[in-house]
Amino acid sequence: MEQVQDPVIIAGAGQAGAQLAQSLRQGGFKGTITVIGEEAFPPYERPPLSKDYLAGKRDAARLFLRKPEFWAERQVDMRLGQRVSAVDAAARSVTLQSGETLPYGWLVWATGGRPRQLSCEGAGLAGIHYVRSIADIDRMKADLTEPGRRIVIVGGGYIGLEAAAVLRSFGHGVTVLEMQDRLLARVTSPTVSRFFRNLHEGHGVKVMLSTGVTGLTGVDGRVTGVALSDGSTLPADLVVVGVGIIPNVEPLAAAGLPCPNGVAVDEFCRSSDPHILAIGDCALHPNGFADAHIRLESVQNAIDQAKVAADVILGNPKPYTAMPWFWSDQYEVKMQTAGLSIGHDQVVVRGTEGKLPFSVAYLKQGKLIALDCLGSPKDFMQCRALVTARAAVDPEKLADTGIDLKSLMAAAAPAPAPAE
Ligand SMILES: Cc1cc2nc3c(=O)[nH]c(=O)nc-3n(C[C@H](O)[C@H](O)[C@H](O)COP(=O)(O)OP(=O)(O)OC[C@H]3O[C@@H](n4cnc5c(N)ncnc54)[C@H](O)[C@@H]3O)c2cc1C
Repeated sequence: MEQVQDPVIIAGAGQAGAQLAQSLRQGGFKGTITVIGEEAFPPYERPPLSKDYLAGKRDAARLFLRKPEFWAERQVDMRLGQRVSAVDAAARSVTLQSGETLPYGWLVWATGGRPRQLSCEGAGLAGIHYVRSIADIDRMKADLTEPGRRIVIVGGGYIGLEAAAVLRSFGHGVTVLEMQDRLLARVTSPTVSRFFRNLHEGHGVKVMLSTGVTGLTGVDGRVTGVALSDGSTLPADLVVVGVGIIPNVEPLAAAGLPCPNGVAVDEFCRSSDPHILAIGDCALHPNGFADAHIRLESVQNAIDQAKVAADVILGNPKPYTAMPWFWSDQYEVKMQTAGLSIGHDQVVVRGTEGKLPFSVAYLKQGKLIALDCLGSPKDFMQCRALVTARAAVDPEKLADTGIDLKSLMAAAAPAPAPAE
């Protein structure tokens, strides 16, 4: 007799939730899979939102991860435009915003995050935009029908900079405000920060560092200016805010699960409740590449953690050990990052700083922990094994572009374990 499998409820129809539903069916899961998604769209890719979708080079249907029939064919019940508003962990059930209650055997929390909003005076004015969803970008585009607008971008992280690149390419006047003394300060080295500052300034973007926003001014309910920490006010027709996300954890936190900056999970994506897992942007997990508990906001993490959760549900648990990787497109430049540079104590530039292609390598106690590859897909492909192994590499060889990174792997490979 075939075993009946516990129903799985996935909260969040995003990158991680979609991958989990797919991996469960691929792994032979026969039980009910219900995906509850707050947005009206089927699961879609977010990276193009600040790139090709904003640029008008892709339409919404081409963002969808799968055609709607893919889910129906696999008997994945996609309940879109619905939100999980409460979790009863003792009864093992969720309540939707509609009031409907659904029982689960496994609940997988894959709700991502929402943009951190400005809280200063004027934050509610029209003309202030965020960059998280198709709806956000559609709103922004609808608000940008006139040419030559003065756009102020708050936040010099990836999302702000990608949006800056696209909006500048449309001919708008763009100013990027960053509180820190360099761009991308949270995620990369001063070398890469300098590169992107020069890139944007070379395209005519004004970059203002060590500058905070103290308020937004407006006329007739619409933003007209951004008040800065130096006391001045920048005129603005439109403001784009990219200052990070807040993980969507409230229903789980209310159910008593520890959620300090994300749902606390172990290396199997298991929360403190044996029937609840969490994956993707909202999962605060132990990461061996960071030597810390972190949340990762990347497609790689969403997909790989979904696979870890699927294996747990399928009864074949394997810990999450995948190497983090990421990319960003700005103007004609693609940057690809392997690993996490957190805690590095040495930086090696491979090639000539600022001259494409070049890469920036990060070492910790002589071991390669990350590489930012600027216009160098070859370095990115070849460094992955080195970063995964956290291989000890000779910095001089690393800097020498005449030496392929893959040849360093052979030199750095640990000796095979002795036979038992
Ligand atoms: C503009 C932009 C550009 C990006 N660029 C890159 C990039 O270049 N490379 C890269 O690796 N990553 C990039 N990312 C990050 C990447 O898209 C995310 O890491 C990834 O989408 C995370 O997947 P997720 O499933 O955890 O969350 P999401 O994809 O955000 O999905 C979560 C879903 O859950 C829904 N939800 C929330 N609460 C509830 C609830 N209570 N009930 C039901 N549904 C709920 C949300 O509405 C959302 O649809 C980018 C992100 C953005 C926004």
